[in-house]
Amino acid sequence: MPHSRIAVYPGSFDPITYGHLDIIRRGLKIFNHVIVAVARNSQKNALFSIDERVELIKSVLKDESRVSVDTFTGLLIDYVASKEAHVIIRGLRAISDFEYEFQIAQMNSTIGHDIETLFMMTSVQYGYLSSSIVREVCLLGGTVDSFVPPEIKKAMQQKYALNSIPKV
Ligand code: ADP
Repeated sequence: MPHSRIAVYPGSFDPITYGHLDIIRRGLKIFNHVIVAVARNSQKNALFSIDERVELIKSVLKDESRVSVDTFTGLLIDYVASKEAHVIIRGLRAISDFEYEFQIAQMNSTIGHDIETLFMMTSVQYGYLSSSIVREVCLLGGTVDSFVPPEIKKAMQQKYALNSIPKV
């Protein structure tokens, strides 16, 4: 497969939402293969472990043969190069995403000359959607059906139920 047809979609995915899935499916219209890469960099207050996130992503994308799921540590551009890919996909929602993404993309293009970052605008119905908002709604007992697939909802509910068992 020509390497220009592989893209890496990195992120925390804690958990994966319909906003992420929309970016992946649209990415597959441009690339032959998308690698969803869960960052192993330390993250406080994560709901799911890295391995759980990988398993959840695999389960919601099990019918998508052109997607693989992986993890990475260290510099993203080193990981992208190790996969012989040249494109990083990132999603953009609000203006507030822009400054951070712009900074990271410029840094990556400075230290990783051969790697492009492709920004995809969120679809309008997911413009407000983030993993952290979904975690909060679920924690507070709200309905998350329009934000995450059923298996993710179930995993979140189980996690919060376990977390709320009083410790004696
Ligand atoms: P990170 O911690 O790297 O931002 P996230 O899992 O929050 O990890 O997001 C991964 C990528 O997906 C980011 O580029 C983010 O902007 C994008 N993204 C997240 N939610 C949405 C959404 N609702 N619509 C479009 N892009 C999104």
